[in-house]
Amino acid sequence: MTITHHLDDATLMSFAAGSLPGTLAAVAAAHVSMCSRCRAEVAVHERMGAALLSEIAPQKLEAQLQPSAPSAGSGDVRQLQPIERMIGGQLEGVRWRWIGPGLWHRPLACTGGGALQLIKAAPGASVPDHTHGGSELTLVLRGALVDETGTYKPGDVADLDESVQHTPVADSGVGCICLIANEQPTQFRGALARLMQHWHGL
Ligand SMILES: [Zn+2]
Repeated sequence: MTITHHLDDATLMSFAAGSLPGTLAAVAAAHVSMCSRCRAEVAVHERMGAALLSEIAPQKLEAQLQPSAPSAGSGDVRQLQPIERMIGGQLEGVRWRWIGPGLWHRPLACTGGGALQLIKAAPGASVPDHTHGGSELTLVLRGALVDETGTYKPGDVADLDESVQHTPVADSGVGCICLIANEQPTQFRGALARLMQHWHGL
């Protein structure tokens, strides 16, 4: 697994401080479990937070802030465990609910407000044009997703704030399964999208 899209600095800092809203924290934790780079960043922020609290000497702080070397072997099956805990089993066993042409979802329970769901998209299917109230984190688990901000493969996370309006499309060959957290309900644009939202409570 080669991860090229990461959590942004503000998200990493909030995650390390424990102040990220529940649904976003769940997706951030899943990405961090797969990504050695973000794990190292979180460790730096955690040490920085601890250092600020304990007011340790600056030179000691500097020594503690050196990121640890990334560990090899990221992306093996063992690192999918946080996802399996979230969905209560294997991804292959998920009971999907149809929400539109080539699209299925599975809402997941999560404390802390916002919305957390798995989305499965058939090859070439697009998630309706939408904007976000607050932040949105999308973690690709299978296949690939393409939007205006790039191509996302397994382990990649799209860390988008409310200023971004996008139309993600599943890879034309293999489709996509992803885990999406929204800080607030998603606002779809267009009549069909709004109808889907009304019918299915997206
Ligand atoms: Zn990362």
